[in-house]
Amino acid sequence: MRISFRSVAVAVAASLLLAGAAWSDTLVHAGRLIDVEQGRVLERMSIVIKDGRIAEVRAGYLDPKGYAPYHDLRERTVMPGLIDMHVHVSGESSGMIGQVERFTLNPADHALRATQYLNRTLFAGFTTVRDLGSGNGLAISLRDAVRKGWVKGPRIFAAGKAIGTTGGHADPTNGLSQELMHDPGPEAGVINGADESRKAVRQRYKEGADLIKITGTGGVLSQARNGQNPQFMEDEVEAIVKTARDYGFAVAVHAHGKEGMLRAVKAGVDSIEHGTFMDDEVMREMKARGTWYVPTISAGKFVAEKAKIDGYYSELVRPKAAAIGPQIQSTFAKAYKAGIKIAFGTDAAVAPHGSNAKEFVYMVEAGMSPMDAIRSATINAAQLLRQADQLGSIAPGKLADLVAVPGDPLSDISQMLKVDFVMKDGLLQTRP
Ligand SMILES: [Zn+2]
Repeated sequence: MRISFRSVAVAVAASLLLAGAAWSDTLVHAGRLIDVEQGRVLERMSIVIKDGRIAEVRAGYLDPKGYAPYHDLRERTVMPGLIDMHVHVSGESSGMIGQVERFTLNPADHALRATQYLNRTLFAGFTTVRDLGSGNGLAISLRDAVRKGWVKGPRIFAAGKAIGTTGGHADPTNGLSQELMHDPGPEAGVINGADESRKAVRQRYKEGADLIKITGTGGVLSQARNGQNPQFMEDEVEAIVKTARDYGFAVAVHAHGKEGMLRAVKAGVDSIEHGTFMDDEVMREMKARGTWYVPTISAGKFVAEKAKIDGYYSELVRPKAAAIGPQIQSTFAKAYKAGIKIAFGTDAAVAPHGSNAKEFVYMVEAGMSPMDAIRSATINAAQLLRQADQLGSIAPGKLADLVAVPGDPLSDISQMLKVDFVMKDGLLQTRP
């Protein structure tokens, strides 16, 4: 199908050139268009795009004559470019192999490999991602490389190095021999005390990060015993949030256990990631404050599956993966029913990059309506990103990020796995 869109576009362009006409606005005909703002489907629509932005959305099919390129999506369902609010572009989980790569790969190796991940993510329909922790400034450099057109990939919003405490989920020296296990500080994202919290946030600002990520509790894949214990004192997380506000940063918090989640929510963070053991009390606090929940069911399913394989994870990681993994989807179901604000996120890197859309299937399986699932990855995600004026819906003035699937995802959510048209900034994306 992609070839035929291109050939139509080329034919239109060629005829315009022959007629002496200049390149004009882009036109898209959408058989079905998902209006995520109103939660409805519009049929037989025309979208006019100018300079990478949506200029007009009109009922009926405008005459393609005079438009170039023209994209015929009359047999497709068109929606805004998808947004994954929790990925790590720097890597992909590979069990114990990943442990060895810490000693064998250079930052440049990671960066070059990540270009493949970005490609897969883009062609799965995700035109924007939020990177919640990549070391060595990797996601920041990749963000800029995509912006400059050096690399084909989604638009990236990057947290830089995640911030944790000594021995915590984001301490990069966990699991090393004591000889190699030095004492990293705020620059490497490891803080102890409120002063270092402030310094770590300022360090992210200096490095050009777009937001702040902290690891409020233990985690599954770090080489440490506990996956749920609180890992920030109240004054530390409060100092993070206050400093982040001064620099206009949102704060995203990795959390599985209840106590760490409560401390973070009460301190005023923007989102809870994973939220595995979120209970009624936490949900009440989140609802009262409008805190977002980014569930990452995909990561839970993936680690629960891998924990069954002998030797895939270390003996420190395996029991955590088995206990935490299966819980996330049911927590998500409760949070959705409770009316918590939900934004789509997969933790891609745990599960392979490019399989992000499976999350839609898991969300609907747990009781979310397909429309709400699509909204979570478009308009909701754009709000949490603080980019709702630029992204998240097909409306005049917004960036022209569009994706399309062959069938109707509102009656069959697995259609989200079949994205076969991707436009970013008004340009059709083609595989390299
Ligand atoms: Zn993560």
